Amino acid sequence: MKHHYQSMQTPHLIVIGGGFAGLELIKKLNNKPIKITVLDKNNYFNFQPLMYQVASGGLGPDAIAYPLRKIIGSMPNVAFRMAEVKEVNTAQNEVITNIGNFTYDYLCIATGAQTNFFGNAELEKHCMQLKSIPDALDLRSDILQEFEKALSESKTGDIERFLNFVVVGGGPTGVETAGSLAEIKKNVIPADYKEIDANKMQVHLIEAAPRVLAAMSEISSKKAQQFLEELGVHVQTNTAVESYDAKTGNLTLSNGQILKTDTVIWSAGVKGKTIPGISADLVVRGNRYKVDAFNKIETLNNVYAIGDISYMTTDEAFPNGHPMVGTVAQQQGKLLGNNLLKIINNQQPKPYNYFNLGSMATIGRHKAVFEIFGIKMQGYIAWLGWMFIHLMLLVGFRNRLVVFLNWMWNYVSYQRAIRIITRPFVPKQ
Ligand SMILES: Cc1cc2nc3c(=O)[nH]c(=O)nc-3n(C[C@H](O)[C@H](O)[C@H](O)COP(=O)(O)OP(=O)(O)OC[C@H]3O[C@@H](n4cnc5c(N)ncnc54)[C@H](O)[C@@H]3O)c2cc1C
Repeated sequence: MKHHYQSMQTPHLIVIGGGFAGLELIKKLNNKPIKITVLDKNNYFNFQPLMYQVASGGLGPDAIAYPLRKIIGSMPNVAFRMAEVKEVNTAQNEVITNIGNFTYDYLCIATGAQTNFFGNAELEKHCMQLKSIPDALDLRSDILQEFEKALSESKTGDIERFLNFVVVGGGPTGVETAGSLAEIKKNVIPADYKEIDANKMQVHLIEAAPRVLAAMSEISSKKAQQFLEELGVHVQTNTAVESYDAKTGNLTLSNGQILKTDTVIWSAGVKGKTIPGISADLVVRGNRYKVDAFNKIETLNNVYAIGDISYMTTDEAFPNGHPMVGTVAQQQGKLLGNNLLKIINNQQPKPYNYFNLGSMATIGRHKAVFEIFGIKMQGYIAWLGWMFIHLMLLVGFRNRLVVFLNWMWNYVSYQRAIRIITRPFVPKQ
């Protein structure tokens, strides 16, 4: 029997966010006796793990984004509205958006995370970030514009700041971005910008912790740093960014060093993307909603949070919450789907248990670190594994094919084909 959205009355579930968590939730509830409205400010799902490849010209944005309506279209009990949620009124069971208000019986918040500048307004204003597709396109434009500036202003002699690229934060995103920039230096500058001395382009990776990829094993961290250094990246660990003056281009580090740069890429932290209306008492560490073992926001009866925005602790393994990664988001989405069906049928829901599938990062051609089910690999095989898993995780056959073909092209040509400035980046003053 098909459950048609238009004729269904209750129960009505509103899902805010069609990301990793929200999508898995609705897939579980496809054609089930629950009416669902998905609200997202974008009309696409964004596969964030490959965003750095859009920023570095290896992939176009349509390779990693997937239309939400294409996924939801075939789900009879689910409807989509492109809407930015402004506020939630839990007393009235109401969601307030830029296109009007919606009432719910159950609400699930799956809004994900945003970049954390730890309260530094100057850094927030002037650093590049990598949290959305527009961010990735801005960064792509900025990188190419810096090369153009270096050429047009080469006579003044002061081109150092245009060709210095500083990545802050040595997690997977920072490591992968720094690796891509180093490959641009090696392969793109000599081909496209032959008047620029490629040796003048410098890539720096700044990490406050004692090692890069701190969430992985020591061996993976060590190997990743070695791969980066082989590519010519200057890696500084135990070093934090103190301040950035965009006018002079001076980036001051905690060890007193000043790097002159026009491009600081901030990948040093994320925090939950909360929505006004939920009591501040329920927002804890990392700006996330405190949830119980069933992803229900504590003290609220019918409001759930899943994915990056949720903060669930366990006494032993996760006293500080689960990592903000795609696997947790997907697992919580699936479980909540099953649990909501149980709750509606007055059955006991199941608590969440994180099943850690491992983690990985790639550092340029033939180089990656890979940890899965306790198996640790580095180098060529890890790189192949990284590519295979990312292809499989992409949503939709077309996206897989486009990414695969782009990777093949980049592999044989040593180039990043999408070196185009379609929307010039204008830095904030
Ligand atoms: C650059 C980068 C690389 C990453 N690489 C990896 C990786 O390699 N492996 C890994 O496991 N994880 C990785 N992650 C983390 C992973 O992407 C997140 O853990 C995952 O996306 C969390 O899923 P989510 O559903 O909670 O949030 P998201 O997937 O971010 O989805 C949130 C959705 O909510 C919508 N939204 C937000 N606010 C509103 C609002 N007010 N109104 C309407 N809609 C709203 C957004 O548009 C978005 O569609 C990476 C993250 C980034 C940024």
